[in-house]
Amino acid sequence: MAKHYMPAINEGMIQGRRDIEKIVSNKKTPTFENTIEAYDNAGELLKNVTAVFFAQSTANTNDSLQKIEIEVSPLISAYNDEILLNPELFRKVKSVYDNQGNFKLSNDQRFILENLYKGFVRNGANLNKTDQDTLKDYNQRLSVLTVKYSQNVLAETNNYTLFLNKEDLAGLPESVIAAAAETAKNAGKEDSWAVNTQRPSIFPFMTYAKNRDLREQIYAAYAGRGNGGNEFDNNGILAEIVKIRAARAKLLGYKSHADIILEPRMAKTPENVLKLLDNLWEKAIPVAKTELAGMQKIAQKEGARFNLEPSDWWYYAEKLRKEKYDLNDSDLRPYFKLENVREGAFSVANKLFGVTFSPIADLPRPHPDVEAFEVKEADGTHIGVLYMDFFPRESKQQGAWCGNYRSHHIVDGKSITPVVTTCFNFTKPSGDLPALISVEEASTLYHEFGHALDALFNKSTYNQTFIAWDFVELPSQIMEHWATEPDVLNMYAKHYSTGESIPAELVQKIRNSGYFNQGFETVEYLAASLLDIKLHSLTAPAIIDVQSFEKDYLSGIGLIPEILPRYRSTYFLHIATGYDSGYYSYIWAAVYDNDAFEAFKEKGLFDQTVAASFRKNILERNGTMDAMQMFLNFRGRDAAIEPLLKSRGLIQKTN
Ligand SMILES: [Zn+2]
Repeated sequence: MAKHYMPAINEGMIQGRRDIEKIVSNKKTPTFENTIEAYDNAGELLKNVTAVFFAQSTANTNDSLQKIEIEVSPLISAYNDEILLNPELFRKVKSVYDNQGNFKLSNDQRFILENLYKGFVRNGANLNKTDQDTLKDYNQRLSVLTVKYSQNVLAETNNYTLFLNKEDLAGLPESVIAAAAETAKNAGKEDSWAVNTQRPSIFPFMTYAKNRDLREQIYAAYAGRGNGGNEFDNNGILAEIVKIRAARAKLLGYKSHADIILEPRMAKTPENVLKLLDNLWEKAIPVAKTELAGMQKIAQKEGARFNLEPSDWWYYAEKLRKEKYDLNDSDLRPYFKLENVREGAFSVANKLFGVTFSPIADLPRPHPDVEAFEVKEADGTHIGVLYMDFFPRESKQQGAWCGNYRSHHIVDGKSITPVVTTCFNFTKPSGDLPALISVEEASTLYHEFGHALDALFNKSTYNQTFIAWDFVELPSQIMEHWATEPDVLNMYAKHYSTGESIPAELVQKIRNSGYFNQGFETVEYLAASLLDIKLHSLTAPAIIDVQSFEKDYLSGIGLIPEILPRYRSTYFLHIATGYDSGYYSYIWAAVYDNDAFEAFKEKGLFDQTVAASFRKNILERNGTMDAMQMFLNFRGRDAAIEPLLKSRGLIQKTN
């Protein structure tokens, strides 16, 4: 009931403050138990209520829940700030940290202590009063600058619309024309067509429009956002953001901003990120060049008398795709009935870990459509509860995600078992047809299911886990591999009406489609990631001219002129919205998940020893020990990049 949330949240904060007060006013010498453990247990009611509240408000919201959301968000962030900036609390934590040699701490305890302490330090708890004031000024200025940066990108994106005549539509498929009509209508022009520089609008146009001049025109607008010398120019703003972040890092005792951000991550340092990205870069650039040559050939065959420009890439890539990788969505869907895909994921987990999933009828759920399953060990022991919520509705957020109503921890020696939810927005059943989903949707189901297994198998003693940002996608992305393995497809991808297994030729097409345009995609992504890390590895005083920095750096590493970074400096929203020094993490996780999956490929997709080790070393431990150490314990060595390169077709396969 919505009306119970607010009183419960308020009471939760009162209790939480009382718990913190108790730690702070304790006269005894700070120990792990009376400080760190007490801190971990503080505000239990608030944690429970907000976990349930946010799981419900994302899955099935309504006016009263939305009102509470608006009321509650600033209260919670103030509550959290109050704790993180509480100097007496920090003094106690620091005392435990400095004297940890005197306590007999387990590895888990050492890990939580380290993360907690460093978290305070990165927030400036260790600074004297004057430096803390400087830090506050930096933070304030940064919050103004990053908002302005984002608003400028938005304004530049919204201020440009390219209206089209009927003949400009040549080459565009029906769906793209319909979207262009909608765009024109939203821009105030009925019975016309338009494209703008939002990705869902511009890229279908770049892919299909025959008119080369128009493609060039809109791409120039897209790539020039924030760099027009007008009131929305982001060059000066980004230069100042970079400068202040570098100065703040120095104040906090770090080499660079990237060093601060990466400290709690698997990568740990910008040098480690650069090493991995550089290795991938070297492999990807030649493949992009080969793709370019292939496209240039097609252009020539069609009589083109020009060299391809960046704005030509999507158009000719589509021609290349048609030639080599054509895959028709509607041929595939009949083999991907939702229930079959879900049962497939359940049997993969069963074959790997012995676990079972049985429907539970009488359990409260956020919406009547949501299904609930009890997850049990092979011997019947209860592990936890898994909710699955498949279809879109107005009250639900977009996309797909996995969340916790309750996460594993231990109270008075007793395990509190996890309650996990996975949410999707899949194609609904229509008419007589069951829900037939796409291959991407099937992969998404496996992805979120992987997050769910991670949460269900977790063995954390404490409430707080510290899952490294660049590791969080490993347990999910690795599951996607099973979704499209031929042997697994044979298990679950059966025609919804005939029950026939998916034909081998379609399986091959699914596999091949993963290789399309991967040189380009990897290069444009890496160029942006490298730019992000480079900008944020600058040491104070970091004074740059943004345009020449970008240009010199990218040409220095050999970016070909036919490709621009996926985001350029003046419209790289990630830099302003909390993903700074973090854009690399998608490919970082991909390298590790591909190499982890390789362990299964070496010994067998369902090898029991590898599966048991994966569960014990990774899924049970995630967030309770160093992510790199977990990986080393599982794999016996650091990840190799070859499995990722192979999966993207960036190196010749040996078998
Ligand atoms: Zn994920």
